[in-house]
Amino acid sequence: MVIGGGIVGLAVAAELASRGDRVTVLEKERHWGAHQTGHNSNVVHAGLYYKPGSLKARMSVAGNASMVAFAREHGVPVEVCGKLVVATSSDELPRLHALASRAEANGVPAKLITAEEALEYEPEVACVAALRVESTGIIDYSAVCAALVRSLDGHDLRLRSPALAIRTVGSHVEVATPQGVVRGDVLVNCAGLQSDRIARLAGLTPSARIVPFRGEYYELRRTELVRGLIYPVPDPTLPFLGVHLTRMLDGSVHCGPNAVLALRREGYRWRDFSLGDVVDVARFPGTWRLARKFARTGVEEVLRSLSRRRFAASLARLVPAVQESDLVRAESGVRAQAMLPDGSLVDDFLIESAPRQVHVLNAPSPAATSALEIARHIASLT
Ligand SMILES: Cc1cc2nc3c(=O)[nH]c(=O)nc-3n(C[C@H](O)[C@H](O)[C@H](O)COP(=O)(O)OP(=O)(O)OC[C@H]3O[C@@H](n4cnc5c(N)ncnc54)[C@H](O)[C@@H]3O)c2cc1C
Repeated sequence: MVIGGGIVGLAVAAELASRGDRVTVLEKERHWGAHQTGHNSNVVHAGLYYKPGSLKARMSVAGNASMVAFAREHGVPVEVCGKLVVATSSDELPRLHALASRAEANGVPAKLITAEEALEYEPEVACVAALRVESTGIIDYSAVCAALVRSLDGHDLRLRSPALAIRTVGSHVEVATPQGVVRGDVLVNCAGLQSDRIARLAGLTPSARIVPFRGEYYELRRTELVRGLIYPVPDPTLPFLGVHLTRMLDGSVHCGPNAVLALRREGYRWRDFSLGDVVDVARFPGTWRLARKFARTGVEEVLRSLSRRRFAASLARLVPAVQESDLVRAESGVRAQAMLPDGSLVDDFLIESAPRQVHVLNAPSPAATSALEIARHIASLT
């Protein structure tokens, strides 16, 4: 029994079904992939950023290959177009070189190239050097979900079915939904932004708490400025990759996402507010420790969220021709990021088991890329 019909929950269900299990999926929304999975950059990451040996590193490198293969096999649009990570000043070069070494350690094909070579890939980019990564791709994760759902034909897939209460009775787990009680042998919690709450409903006391970070996007009017994917060199002290330019499969170019604290776990606009969610975040000691540590970055992110001019300026560091008037607001996404009480953000995927239960407690990016690998790992635990 899987709670959550995002890409991770559906991939887990498909993996269990392929091993001969009968599967029930409970999803509270009216369609599959309604939250993180349906509001992301649609990038199949190569796996270059993550600490060698971590679940993220292993599962994104393997996931890059398995996700592309899955898409091709199931008629889901995918394009392995490669990307550029660009150093815009010489003080970013040590970090670019460190990234190249990390790519090598993770077995990701990537090569350092000069500014002139970078212009051959992206004629409008401004950089002093770049890292060319061939295996990065673009995909439609909602279409991946649709394909996973098709592969689960004959299983018990329930939309509009929120899990309200959970208890273990003998050798079964029971989940109460508005339509009645559902029973299963094993429960897998893939509830994304609500995963810590589902774990608590199931009787666990998870050490980490989900903190929602909204990521806002703009669409670039002058799509001719970008051919593929252009990323900055990430700041290793921050959990996110920095605003980037991503060509989508339909030819549009998405710019973002930034990262601001969301005032509701599934709140996609500033005006989306939940008192319960805000109190939850405010009461958690980690929030204040994080706020102190990243006070300056946090203020800059809020200002950039409120000002299209600032957003354009961040993008113009990568592609100088981008102007404020080129940007049109697009839908945002909210990341489920697990945080510890000491204010540190959980870096790796976090999956915890209890008798008859497996809980995915941290599955931020690149979990869409890695979904099929996370699913295999979870199936081996059940
Ligand atoms: C802005 C942004 C950009 C990103 N870009 C990328 C990218 O380019 N590449 C990449 O690999 N990853 C990316 N990610 C990360 C990726 O989207 C997520 O890691 C992935 O979608 C997580 O999938 P999930 O199934 O765990 O969560 P979700 O997709 O959030 O699914 C969880 C589901 O659980 C359901 N649920 C919650 N509570 C209940 C309940 N009580 N009962 C029943 N159902 C419930 C929710 O409705 C939801 O549908 C990005 C994320 C964001 C937000």
